[in-house]
Amino acid sequence: MSYSIDLGLYIDGSWRTGEGRDTHSVINPATGEALAELPLATAADLDEALAATATGFANWRAVDVNARAAILHKVANHIRERAETIAVLLTTEQGKPLAEARTEVLSCAAQFDYFAEEAKRSYGRVLVRPTGQRALVLKQPVGPVAAFSPWNFPVNLMCKKMAAALAAGCPIIAKPPEETPGSTSAIMQCVIDGGVPGNVAQLVYGVPDMVSRHLIASPIIRKVSFTGSVPVGKHLLKLAADGVKRTTMELGGHAPVLIFDDCDLEKAISLSATTKFRNAGQVCISPTRFYVQEGVYDRFVAGFAAHTKQIQVGNGLDVGTDMGPLANARRPSAIAALVEDATSKGANLLTGGSRGNHGFFFTPTVLSDVPMSAKVMDDEPFGPVALMRPFKTFDEAIEQANRLPFGLAAYAFTENARQANLVADALDTGMVGLNSFVISMPDAPFGGVKESGFGSEGGPEGLDSYYVTKAVHQY
Ligand code: NAD
Repeated sequence: MSYSIDLGLYIDGSWRTGEGRDTHSVINPATGEALAELPLATAADLDEALAATATGFANWRAVDVNARAAILHKVANHIRERAETIAVLLTTEQGKPLAEARTEVLSCAAQFDYFAEEAKRSYGRVLVRPTGQRALVLKQPVGPVAAFSPWNFPVNLMCKKMAAALAAGCPIIAKPPEETPGSTSAIMQCVIDGGVPGNVAQLVYGVPDMVSRHLIASPIIRKVSFTGSVPVGKHLLKLAADGVKRTTMELGGHAPVLIFDDCDLEKAISLSATTKFRNAGQVCISPTRFYVQEGVYDRFVAGFAAHTKQIQVGNGLDVGTDMGPLANARRPSAIAALVEDATSKGANLLTGGSRGNHGFFFTPTVLSDVPMSAKVMDDEPFGPVALMRPFKTFDEAIEQANRLPFGLAAYAFTENARQANLVADALDTGMVGLNSFVISMPDAPFGGVKESGFGSEGGPEGLDSYYVTKAVHQY
């Protein structure tokens, strides 16, 4: 059985199931069939979680950082031990191939290990003062956190927030997506079994707008962390502004890739075509707008399309599947509309462009010579669609890359070191990959600029976002 888990809310140390609560049907995106019913939090549930988190904060902030680290390492070990079971849940409810699900689950363990150790190095400062006087800058946990994470990397993105908050001494109420509660609940059980107190890490599901309004309005919550779309991020920022709450916002992207004439073309083609369709393109840093210099445009486009045609689409649990279905019923319709708009305006459809006849499948799609008027050049497709356009000069490529309000990730392929430095400086994004698409790891800041958000997750910067500073002056 690939979906064997009791779904519930974890509030103040106990799992709450059914008991007359409204429910949400969890769907297998490969088949469209219902897997289970998920109970949704009521206002009373959220109030209970808020009261518990206030008590949890008082206790957890006082726990020695080494003791917190030991608990977080135990969580990481439980995740590693249960990785296969959690990966199967994740694939069944989200669709991604099992190999990708395994990597995602293991990345959660890596985050708990990283933040456990990094928190030990959260030093303050001593300021220079006359003899007998002291001035200190202390880092203290910001307080209870409300964390909202999306369905594309359900466990990775929940753990990014949870591991950093817990390491810094903050309790957290996590609201992962309702689409994929099996894997996030199984991770939560690892957190519980690792020894995190029940009022320190809590898990709720619900109607997203109701839950976020309720939690963010509470004076108990001191920090809001959200990963998801730009419109929802703006909405939550406004709610957080009422209480002047700290926020970390990881919002959308529409990542450009600059392919220069002097790149290693074979490497650029194979890495691009593989990475584009990872998680069926439902990745905020997914390479999407391919700007290719004229000298290699035809060869790049032909090579990319040929690689794409080899991709095996199927149920993520089946051996040999390279790309699974999209995660929910909204995505195939959204992508079909964008592809139809682009082709109607003159884009060449080189491969893909069709939906499956069951589940939420959409074939890997390559569009070349996409006109600038096509909506997909401006709107993040968040799906298996690659867009190709030629460029002549460096300046033109940079202008195109920086054209949109997004500023999350950008990539460039060039073998010229000076050009690589210039392009990295000129790209208006929070992250840049040079001759690589690997830009997300626990020790590096992950985050965007412009409308892609602000603040970082990952690295010391990610940990810092869960501290406030206090200056102590002693005369
Ligand atoms: P959406 O905008 O409705 O939701 C995005 C995420 O925010 C979901 O996880 C959802 O549960 C959550 N959400 C929605 N309203 C909320 C609220 N009021 N309070 C708290 N959370 C709320 O869109 P969708 O159809 O789920 O996803 C489509 C778009 O979302 C994509 O096109 C993409 O731009 C974006 N997205 C981005 C990421 C990312 O990693 N940055 C992840 C998932 C989705």
